Amino acid sequence: MTLPVREVGGQPQIKDVERLMSSPVVLNHINKSYKLGQVSVPALTDINTLIRPDRFTVLSGTSGSGKTTLLNMIGCIDRPDTGEIIVAGQAIQSLSDDELTDFRARHIGFIFQNFNLLPVLTVAENIEYPLILAHTPPAERKKRVQMLVNAVGLSGKEGNRPAQLSGGQRQRVAIARALARGPKLVLADEPTANLDSNTGAQIIRLMRHMQHEHHVSFIFSSHDPQVLAEADDAITIRDGRIVSIRREDDHAAAHAEPKA
Ligand code: ADP
Ligand code: MG
Repeated sequence: MTLPVREVGGQPQIKDVERLMSSPVVLNHINKSYKLGQVSVPALTDINTLIRPDRFTVLSGTSGSGKTTLLNMIGCIDRPDTGEIIVAGQAIQSLSDDELTDFRARHIGFIFQNFNLLPVLTVAENIEYPLILAHTPPAERKKRVQMLVNAVGLSGKEGNRPAQLSGGQRQRVAIARALARGPKLVLADEPTANLDSNTGAQIIRLMRHMQHEHHVSFIFSSHDPQVLAEADDAITIRDGRIVSIRREDDHAAAHAEPKA
């Protein structure tokens, strides 16, 4: 592939191939439009960037800027019209749809704005579900579920169903579920949009903490400028184009304690 050497006009070039190879996500000349009848609506235009491993990255931009579209590309939920995406060292375009589904389940955890929990399952069962799909042995499943329940602060609520939880508690379940299979990458699309600001801030801190503890690369989208401060790295998009990239100093980020 050709390297995404120039991320944004004027930004320094990525010359460090090693850094490129270790990146959990590389986006190279990504373009995506939606067809509305005869009209083609551009959603992403020439996106070039990479995500750093083991970092908390925010994708910021106003509503309609292309955040969900970009997360759907990174999450292998949708494919770009043109361009290359490499996730966890795998070039996505070379996978069939079935291979992509399997790849996604193995390597990527998802957290959604509206939680997307299964209403008939309990807290523990919602977290366990991806492990059942992965044929994880029952004893190991129970152990992992209990560890995650405790880690997200829901011990005692294992038997509750989503309807018996607050919004913040539902999002805690979703965070635990996203981490169940030990993914390399967790994607969260406006995870605090349906929460009040206090609860939202708690959820961001919890995600930050879990990112650090589990050594995953965490990418979340938000249109709230306040959450930018919580992130190691911030990528801002406007009208489907990257307009700025801020990366916390490598050394400082590697030695930073979680802000929780
Ligand atoms: P954000 O998540 O930042 O609000 P989106 O990625 O949802 O932005 O949308 C980016 C652009 O693509 C917007 O102009 C939006 O109207 C358009 N768009 C998103 N999804 C569709 C779709 N399924 N069909 C047509 N246009 C879409
Ligand atoms: Mg969106």
